[in-house]
Amino acid sequence: MHKVIIVGAGFAGLQAAKGLTNSVIDVTIIDKNNYHLFQPLLYQVATAGLSPADIALPIRNIFRSKKNFKVILDELIEINPKINQITTKNNTYLYDFLILATGSQISYFGNDQWKKFSPGLKNIEDAIFIRGRILKAFEKAERIKNSKAIKKIMKFVIIGGGPTGVEMAGAIAELSKKVLVKEFSTIDTKTAQIILLEAGSSVLPTAPKSLSIYAKDSLEKLGVEVKCNTVVQNISESLVKTNTEIIEAGTIIWCAGVKASPLGRYINIKTDEIGRVFVNDDLSIPTHPNIFAIGDTSHVKDKIGKPLPGLAPVAKQEGKFVAEVIKNNINNLQTQNKFYYKNRGYLATIGRSKAIVDFGWFTLKGRIGWIFWSFIHIYFLIGFRNRFMVFTNWVWSYLTFSKGARLITNNKIEKNSL
Ligand SMILES: Cc1cc2nc3c(=O)[nH]c(=O)nc-3n(C[C@H](O)[C@H](O)[C@H](O)COP(=O)(O)OP(=O)(O)OC[C@H]3O[C@@H](n4cnc5c(N)ncnc54)[C@H](O)[C@@H]3O)c2cc1C
Repeated sequence: MHKVIIVGAGFAGLQAAKGLTNSVIDVTIIDKNNYHLFQPLLYQVATAGLSPADIALPIRNIFRSKKNFKVILDELIEINPKINQITTKNNTYLYDFLILATGSQISYFGNDQWKKFSPGLKNIEDAIFIRGRILKAFEKAERIKNSKAIKKIMKFVIIGGGPTGVEMAGAIAELSKKVLVKEFSTIDTKTAQIILLEAGSSVLPTAPKSLSIYAKDSLEKLGVEVKCNTVVQNISESLVKTNTEIIEAGTIIWCAGVKASPLGRYINIKTDEIGRVFVNDDLSIPTHPNIFAIGDTSHVKDKIGKPLPGLAPVAKQEGKFVAEVIKNNINNLQTQNKFYYKNRGYLATIGRSKAIVDFGWFTLKGRIGWIFWSFIHIYFLIGFRNRFMVFTNWVWSYLTFSKGARLITNNKIEKNSL
């Protein structure tokens, strides 16, 4: 049997694997986590709206009935294309075809020292950590008597006005103004200050102008202070220095940048400025026709020559395409030799009842946009076998502000420093 190894079971890797389920191919999926994560809803975990298990599923469970599939929990560390072999932390594996779908990671634009003071959101650990920070801020404020200190502790700065920053700011505003308000007796959680900083001239800069303006207005109605044209120059303990001011805040969250996973570390190939691998039209790597790079880790151009954005639908379509290329190759069939992305839209929520949706040829906003978002984004994107159950659970947790999601699990009670 031909051996296909897929490294990374995110949107791209999972879709490629699904494309190979009915073929006579020996498929090995290697991931450093044992779960597939639905990242678009990570902000919900970080803001205590959903529990981690609502948005992740064990990879092994997804492929449990596939006899030609093997799932390995391990981390890729090296590729040796000369002998078609990869090395993980614990083993070596030979392949006929290799699919690299290792995604992206948070970028602090060369200022990695900011990470300590301003955590970013990429995986479940990050989400649980941020959730702990947000919930602990309110707990700490409840213990303190000094009103100036309370004001600082209940100030949240979110850096980056892209979809994650907008969603995070809206969700923290709703958490403080609608959910926690009845649960605290000393502080008024409604007075929490939520500030969204964006370096560009508008939030959601890649959305049409009317939707960006709508998103900004909706955030402001929720009580978020949106500051555009604000460039962060430095971050230290509870301090953000921008081109216009210095902000003191108890919680600072980084939603500003990503870079590709370090494929260059595993194999010597050309990458763009954020580490994405340049690929051929069929998504294979130059000079290695049996190695493919897909999803956030690859640099693929659209029809007008712009790199495709790091979005789940892009990753999924690339995964599906590569599975076809490999199957056709094995069966000596003609294959479509160029990947084309079909735009599946740009969506972002603002709080629990508004969203913007942009398909290029039509746009939606407000409640109707949110209903559309919840179906498309949650129901169709996930593609789990048990998606009806997952969807029902999500909607229930979402509508009822699931209390279980508000547990502080990384609790280390610090002495009040103020
Ligand atoms: C907070 C957040 C919100 C987002 N919101 C949206 C949204 O609303 N809509 C949208 O379309 N997109 C959204 N995205 C982007 C979307 O999630 C990504 O574009 C998509 O996940 C890319 O899929 P991927 O398969 O390339 O990578 P991932 O989904 O990141 O998967 C990569 C996989 O590779 C594994 N891996 C990495 N390195 C190794 C290694 N060395 N060895 C083994 N395994 C490894 C990881 O564990 C992971 O499972 C969001 C992303 C984030 C972080």
